[in-house]
Amino acid sequence: MNTDSREPKARRNRALIIGGSIGGLFAAHFLRRAGWDAVIFERSAGDLADRGAGLGITAELFQMMRRAGLKISRSLAFHVHSSIWLTQTGEIGCETDRGWHGSAWAIIYKPLRAAFPSDAYRTGMTLERVEQDESGVTAIFTDGRREHGDLLIAADGVYSTIRRQFLPGIEPRAAGYIAWRGLVDEKNLPEGAYDLLFDRSAFTLPEGELVVSLPVPGPENDMRPGHRRYYFIWYRPADATRRAALFTDASGRSHGLTIPPPLIRPDFIAEMKEAAKKGLPPILGEIVARAPQPLLQSITDMEAPQMVFGRVALLGDSAFLARPHVAAGATKAALDAGALADALEAAEGDIDAGLARYERERLAFGRAIVAHSRHLGAYLEAQLKPPAERNAAEMTRDPRTLIAEYGAPHLVHGVDPATLDG
Ligand SMILES: Cc1cc2nc3c(=O)[nH]c(=O)nc-3n(C[C@H](O)[C@H](O)[C@H](O)COP(=O)(O)OP(=O)(O)OC[C@H]3O[C@@H](n4cnc5c(N)ncnc54)[C@H](O)[C@@H]3O)c2cc1C
Repeated sequence: MNTDSREPKARRNRALIIGGSIGGLFAAHFLRRAGWDAVIFERSAGDLADRGAGLGITAELFQMMRRAGLKISRSLAFHVHSSIWLTQTGEIGCETDRGWHGSAWAIIYKPLRAAFPSDAYRTGMTLERVEQDESGVTAIFTDGRREHGDLLIAADGVYSTIRRQFLPGIEPRAAGYIAWRGLVDEKNLPEGAYDLLFDRSAFTLPEGELVVSLPVPGPENDMRPGHRRYYFIWYRPADATRRAALFTDASGRSHGLTIPPPLIRPDFIAEMKEAAKKGLPPILGEIVARAPQPLLQSITDMEAPQMVFGRVALLGDSAFLARPHVAAGATKAALDAGALADALEAAEGDIDAGLARYERERLAFGRAIVAHSRHLGAYLEAQLKPPAERNAAEMTRDPRTLIAEYGAPHLVHGVDPATLDG
């Protein structure tokens, strides 16, 4: 783009931010603090806080929240103090001091949303396409409305309309395994589960599979003992034929890479619970069998080869989707937003130079995090590969190494209590 963005302007630069989830909100906060007129356009008309579940917390995510002007209180996260390997017979195979901080999606989203001016957060606006010319960028919405700005940020998630416009064909790719997830109320746990499993995360390695489980807040993000829940995510290899069956409902309709929980076929749930009782450590098998409504998703990942297209920048999940093993989707989006604001500021008004710098930095970060998530899932992915394609190291997993490597590289999956505001 040839526009000379260094010319002094009488008006503030305007950023159109498409998507008002965690990534879009961080970007909007940071740009407004840097003097931009930043406006969010969100497709959903309802309250996003009604959705979501557990979310991995990092020290970096809290740093970004503080930068957005928010206080970091103890109630934003819960803590497990160690990680254990649970053997097939249900004993502790090893325990390490690898602790984790977790939270819930809504706990992070709500303060970001509450601190953002309502008149700059427009709901019920679905972007259809983007146009660019010498004067900047125009967002065109499905109802025909148009908005003009100096910069457009695509924070519209993994199925991004904007990425599909600029990078058709870059889509989430199925990794060859699926995940069953579920939650059981603390009071409904089988006998002995509390002493063995609470205050710890547990890693279990049934043949060719992986279960990660840990305590999480209860309904309404209740963190009081007795009111919490126990969460599990059970990764199981599934080839394309098996996945097609799992994600098709009883009426024969296929739902692609995920399926609304109530539409999961009851016979598949019964089969999964039976397999849990036979193949998991007894206490974990019993917990899985007690999960009232399991969720099912295909594990996918995605990387965009480019993040900037003229005055359009991809941010968060629209650019890179890592597998859940790294537990860092919200942190990645927040750090993208911080890096974008820094790059624009360093470029002293030259928006194109700022965007080029942002892309250089964040492509490298996105690639690294997706690569690590593939490494952590290689053991699961290898189970269905032909023998010639298997790497011996991928076929077996040492629990201690797995626990040490789990999570995102270069991020701190824990929060120093001394840094909390109260
Ligand atoms: C409601 C919700 C609940 C979530 N819950 C969890 C959770 O429990 N655990 C977890 O690990 N991750 C969760 N995620 C994903 C996690 O938040 C993301 O990894 C993280 O927020 C970074 O993603 P993002 O902000 O880039 O995109 P996303 O969080 O996916 O948000 C994209 C936003 O863009 C909006 N949008 C999409 N298309 C358009 C369009 N054409 N026009 C306008 N707006 C559009 C969507 O409505 C959405 O609000 C959740 C996301 C959402 C939206």
